[in-house]
Amino acid sequence: MSSEIILAENVTKVYEAGKLQVTAVRGLSMSIAKGEFVAVVGPSGSGTSTLFYLLGGLTRATGGRVVIDGVDFATLDDGERTKLRKHRIGFVFQKFNLLPTLSAMGNIEVAYTISGRKEPMDLKYLDHLSDMLAIQGRLKHRPSELSGGEQQRVAIARALITHPAIVLADEPTGNLDTKNSDAVLHMLMRSNRELGQTTLMITHNPEAASVASRILYMRDGQIVGEEKGS
Ligand code: ADP
Ligand code: MG
Repeated sequence: MSSEIILAENVTKVYEAGKLQVTAVRGLSMSIAKGEFVAVVGPSGSGTSTLFYLLGGLTRATGGRVVIDGVDFATLDDGERTKLRKHRIGFVFQKFNLLPTLSAMGNIEVAYTISGRKEPMDLKYLDHLSDMLAIQGRLKHRPSELSGGEQQRVAIARALITHPAIVLADEPTGNLDTKNSDAVLHMLMRSNRELGQTTLMITHNPEAASVASRILYMRDGQIVGEEKGS
């Protein structure tokens, strides 16, 4: 399929914890087309975060293949893998992971700088994102001065500022109340539709998953079912 942007083929991830081996992902395959919004739903311990790390190139598979936009992670060395990640993928985490000593704006700028792009950050685009995410008035504030919902919206701006083709979110609403969850889901949907991104969101919450165009169910390190979303 030519529009495929994420491909996992028979992927396995085994963690070595001393003498103990934990197989977090076992022979998992999935294919995601450009522009899709896919939710992955699984109970705690089912390997969803491990899948997130594998697809984002944050960890290496023990077996099988992870192919992003036609590039097999296994063919890349660590430097090339980091580069692909910085250029193609935006990450959103449950705990926001904003740097506490920097303002919202500072957090977004640092992410942009780290991404290694040569051209300066596009302030018009930042304006657009801030407007979309309703954080215009909050950019000078530090994370501790922001609500959880605001922090997550800043984290989304940080993920989007580099124009990633793929957005990976691991339980982005896990630490938010219903109202803020709804807002964050709405933002993820908008950025998926309006910025043409491919979005993969992990969630425990069936209601959150229902915003996706496709829902994959995960259990014991495997995809065990699939459903059409909204
Ligand atoms: P989920 O995000 O769905 O809760 P995880 O991917 O975090 O699941 O974990 C899947 C399994 O792998 C769990 O049994 C977990 O304890 C184990 N695991 C996760 N990370 C590690 C690690 N770094 N070392 C050893 N075991 C791990
Ligand atoms: Mg997890």
